[in-house]
Amino acid sequence: MTFDRLWDDLAPVGREGSAGGYCRYAWTPTDATLREWFAGEAAARGLDLVTDRAGNQWAWWGDPDASGPGVVVGSHLDSVPDGGAFDGPLGVVSGLLTIDALRAAGLTPSRPIGVVNFGDEEGARFGIACAGSRMVTGSLPRDRALRLRDGDGTSMAEAMSAAGYNTAHVGRDEETLRRIGCFVELHVEQGRGLIDLGRPVSVGTGIWPHGRWRMEFAGQANHAGTTRLEDRHDPMLDYAAAVLQARELAGKYGIVATCGKVAVEPNGINAIPSRVRGWLDARGADAGAVRALVAELSDGRDVHEESWTPATPFDTALSDRCAAVLDDAPRLASGAGHDAGVLAQAGVATAMLFVRNPTGISHSPAEFAERDDCLRGVKALTAVVTDLAVGQTA
Ligand SMILES: [Zn+2]
Repeated sequence: MTFDRLWDDLAPVGREGSAGGYCRYAWTPTDATLREWFAGEAAARGLDLVTDRAGNQWAWWGDPDASGPGVVVGSHLDSVPDGGAFDGPLGVVSGLLTIDALRAAGLTPSRPIGVVNFGDEEGARFGIACAGSRMVTGSLPRDRALRLRDGDGTSMAEAMSAAGYNTAHVGRDEETLRRIGCFVELHVEQGRGLIDLGRPVSVGTGIWPHGRWRMEFAGQANHAGTTRLEDRHDPMLDYAAAVLQARELAGKYGIVATCGKVAVEPNGINAIPSRVRGWLDARGADAGAVRALVAELSDGRDVHEESWTPATPFDTALSDRCAAVLDDAPRLASGAGHDAGVLAQAGVATAMLFVRNPTGISHSPAEFAERDDCLRGVKALTAVVTDLAVGQTA
């Protein structure tokens, strides 16, 4: 079956050891292999491959300039460090299989259909999530994007050039945006919502508001052996207190808060730190609750907002249409960001479908979806695209 072939093709690409997760970072040789694979699958289906100004790949069945705008499906192929197999690739594979299914059913779309492979969705290398979609919509400005540096000091401009991509035209891409009539992104669920509901596929309602904050703690570097406890100015203790308080406040406000990144100076085992810099990620259904947590945590501390994304609802009419085609599929909000959210913020009519993940775990090798559920996802996406682009329900 084609699903198995496509899945088997992707399985070894960027995998770290046989049991390990995936490291598929933007503009690396692994990324190039994934892009070649996508181009090959597009060519095998006779689709027209277009690479936009941000380097995202679009495979079109029909001409979106002549008879568009089109119905776009797809997702991304990159991963977080030690990521799972499904986050991203399931949407791309399902998009390609949707085209196969329509053709196998002898259906001819009345609108062009596009399958997209967004680049650099996870931001694992340059630190900005959804960089490909943010560049194409202009919410990540060209100059800022090209100047971003990875952990080795390589700029995005250098990385794109090294991968053979011309950076001269990076920037908001009106031509590409004009071609998108609507975007339906299928994605593995990254939580436990569908397990609890006993359903294989849901329709997304939107993406939670979320933000990132940097907390600065200053102290005095000193010797770990000779400095008496009462003489210390140890910023690690202040940081630890902030982490514990963030957790407590998250419970109080019914949201989630995570302190997953910390930088310590001088970062020596036998030295009291001179400085600790910690990052907070906070999100929840209610923006006011997220704001309240941060306000309380900031009291008496040096806290800087690095990013804030308001709640992003998906297009109601489009989502209703998806749910109606899918036998009243359940509706679930997403606590994770997606390219669909970036496009929705830019005014594109956007919806998402989520496929059940029996582990409820994501951004980890434990991320999973049963083969039968993947096939149900393909069927669901096919039904939605049939409704949107062919004008009849499959
Ligand atoms: Zn994803």
